[in-house]
Amino acid sequence: MGKVLIIGAGGVGRVVAFKVAQNPDVFNEITLASRTKSKCDEIAQAVGGNKIKTARVDADNVPELVELLKAEKPDLVINVALPYQDLTIMDACLECGVNYLDTANYEPLEEAKFEYKWQWAYQDKFRNAGLTAILGCGFDPGVTGVFTAYAAKHYFDEIQYLDIVDCNAGDHGKAFATNFNPEINIREVTQKGKYWENGQWVYTEPHEIHKGLHYPNIGEKESYLIYHEELESLVKNFPSLKRARFWMTFGQEYLTHLRVIQNIGMARIDPVNYNGVEIVPIQFLKAVLPNPGELGENYTGETSIGCRIRGIKDGKERTYYIYNNCSHEAAYKETGAQGVSYTTGVPAMIGAMMFLKNKWRKPGVFNVEEFNPDPFMEQLNKQGLPWHELFDVDLEL
Ligand code: NDP
Repeated sequence: MGKVLIIGAGGVGRVVAFKVAQNPDVFNEITLASRTKSKCDEIAQAVGGNKIKTARVDADNVPELVELLKAEKPDLVINVALPYQDLTIMDACLECGVNYLDTANYEPLEEAKFEYKWQWAYQDKFRNAGLTAILGCGFDPGVTGVFTAYAAKHYFDEIQYLDIVDCNAGDHGKAFATNFNPEINIREVTQKGKYWENGQWVYTEPHEIHKGLHYPNIGEKESYLIYHEELESLVKNFPSLKRARFWMTFGQEYLTHLRVIQNIGMARIDPVNYNGVEIVPIQFLKAVLPNPGELGENYTGETSIGCRIRGIKDGKERTYYIYNNCSHEAAYKETGAQGVSYTTGVPAMIGAMMFLKNKWRKPGVFNVEEFNPDPFMEQLNKQGLPWHELFDVDLEL
């Protein structure tokens, strides 16, 4: 039994709150805090039963965080605010002796750069304090790392080729919207492509490499090679990997909007002066785009995210495909949030459960694939994200 403090009351925070409240045998006290307290109150009310306490906090401000942590005394913080807050929350956790979990790696506000170096630099501090930090515990990163660890543990002597495939075949009925925080999402998908091959990173122009891939229960979707943060930790933790890539599906309509947004300067992350006021174009864009947390109501279709792996077992080559499909409608019915928030929030809750059950607890800073995948995989099946395996199939990649 333990107490958690969830920080961030967006789409993902909402799902974490619902799922944590569904598991009272593990989580006996829950606080939800965010910049706007009314959003926390709305979620707490939707969960019902006075199960969740709420608070206001500016997570960019370490003294404010410290004050909240000292008042609440949680065992673990589940950080589902934005990646910009990772380091301030980790600092406050260290100051108050609290364990830490997040779903996205730190990014500096002024530079779109996905790297673990800033958070890995906290390794000694967490180890010396006897505290656990679990990094990247959403779906991707998160479940994709656990899937890889599970494959390496049970089915291969050596994993050599990894392709993470992320398909969203949902339809929210809007001309253009992002499925999670627009600023983070647009920064992620407009950067250069990058993948690991033969011991080094290979760079591509954005969306330069693409190919039609078949997704279970969905069919063929054009999939684009992009850089995604879990590749960095996976190639470090599985040095046998000769190649590691990440593919995401995008519709033509989405890509056209994205191109226009970039061409007209609305994806810029540097401030511009408008009528004497400094505004950051991508932040202004976020204010006028649909709120991802409110896309759920009319969202149909499903997501399909998985790992396609090739390697060696008993001297022979074998292939393995493990995936989960998640229905936007079912996610909305259960939590009031769409499938992308659901597939992120459920694993964050399971990671917290693994920590509180002493299954994922060791001093230091770790990516999810460094823990035992088995108890986590068992919970995915129980908590709404069942997975499926295919052996010795054509991986298309
Ligand atoms: P939202 O933008 O919907 O929600 C973010 C929440 O964080 C908002 O409630 C916001 O408050 C709050 N917040 C922002 N800044 C601060 C601050 N300084 N202090 C306190 N609270 C703050 O994002 P999502 O819910 O879609 O995503 C949450 C996280 O999940 C992101 O880090 C995202 O990168 C990650 N993610 C990870 C995925 C994975 O698979 N690993 C997939 C999808 C998302 P306010 O409402 O006041 O703005």
